[in-house]
Amino acid sequence: MDAIAVRQGKTRPELIDIERPEPDDGEVLVKTLRVGIDGTDFEVLSGSHGEFPEGSEYQILGHEAVGVVEAANGTALSEGEIVVPTVRRPKNTSSRFFENDEPDMAPPGEYVERGIAGAHGYMAEYFTTPASFLVSIPESLADVGFLVEPISNAEKALELAQRSRSTFEWQDSAGLVLGNGPLGLLTLAMLTDRCERTYCLGRRERPDPTIDIVDELGATYINSQQTAVDEIPAAHEPMDLVFEATGHAKHAFSTIEALDSNGVGVLLGIPEDWEFTVNGGALHRQLVLQNKALLGSVNSNVRHYNRARNTLAEYPDWFVSSIMTTRCSVSEFADAFEQSPESIKSYIEFSA
Ligand code: NDP
Ligand code: ZN
Repeated sequence: MDAIAVRQGKTRPELIDIERPEPDDGEVLVKTLRVGIDGTDFEVLSGSHGEFPEGSEYQILGHEAVGVVEAANGTALSEGEIVVPTVRRPKNTSSRFFENDEPDMAPPGEYVERGIAGAHGYMAEYFTTPASFLVSIPESLADVGFLVEPISNAEKALELAQRSRSTFEWQDSAGLVLGNGPLGLLTLAMLTDRCERTYCLGRRERPDPTIDIVDELGATYINSQQTAVDEIPAAHEPMDLVFEATGHAKHAFSTIEALDSNGVGVLLGIPEDWEFTVNGGALHRQLVLQNKALLGSVNSNVRHYNRARNTLAEYPDWFVSSIMTTRCSVSEFADAFEQSPESIKSYIEFSA
């Protein structure tokens, strides 16, 4: 069968021919429909993130997938069901986080990540996985189901943020998303239902398709070249909730200054090492004297996938179709890895 992989020592994806996998006991054989591409895939290709599966000369790419159950293999799933796989798998047999269905909270060393670190991904005609790592979605979402994984990361981050504010009557009237990439836009669309006023920060000038989406969602676009994150309270208003989805390390700290008293900032971006100076005393003081919270969040579990499925179903159709800009067949796979300002989310279609 066809698979898209990166070989050891290479940084470009390749089409390879491998044997179709056989499901073990408790595993399901899934026929892949579509696999999305995000920044993490580029990091895997460049070698800056992740690692090859043990003993393998190549890594099959892809962690954002949707497929259809080909062989249920005696599990509770049924053939023909549309499913989305989760990303993390246990590395060693015992991890209390996997036993509690909270693999997203497992520390490094206790997990591998399919398509990212230590395990093959989903960019292949078929894949196998234990049924417990598959989330069913309605057939009506089959074409867009690969968006469940990135949305689930935002759902987890939102849950952490809300729980951190659950000891008092918190109001999240003003919400700000830093970043107008796919994760930022998917999060912004999620927040427009929650917050009375939403804002999205990017560094692009108009005209730009991502800014059109921000406008259409009824959010205010903030150009970081004109208004820095710490200037946002004066230029617009202090924020109750900030989602950082740029990976720009300075934003982690300026998020504290963008927050209103009692606000919470949740960081999702994954920056490179970067040394710079901050006024640590002022930031520490603001966190304490204004009851602000700053959290990091990574990955998600089945509970968040289920929520993401509902969120995806509620997104307006125009929004989902304007995010899914670049569809490629398996033979056009190289085009899916070309980045351009017009392209928001690229995906590879293995089967229709
Ligand atoms: P992208 O790289 O596609 O998006 C990042 C966006 O932020 C881009 O639109 C970029 O603008 C914008 N941006 C970057 N720097 C600045 C800046 N200084 N000022 C204003 N805007 C800026 O990534 P994704 O949307 O896929 O993901 C966002 C981040 O979240 C990444 O760091 C990714 O690794 C991480 N991530 C984390 C997850 C988690 O669970 N924690 C899950 C998935 C992703 P432009 O396009 O103009 O360059
Ligand atoms: Zn992803």
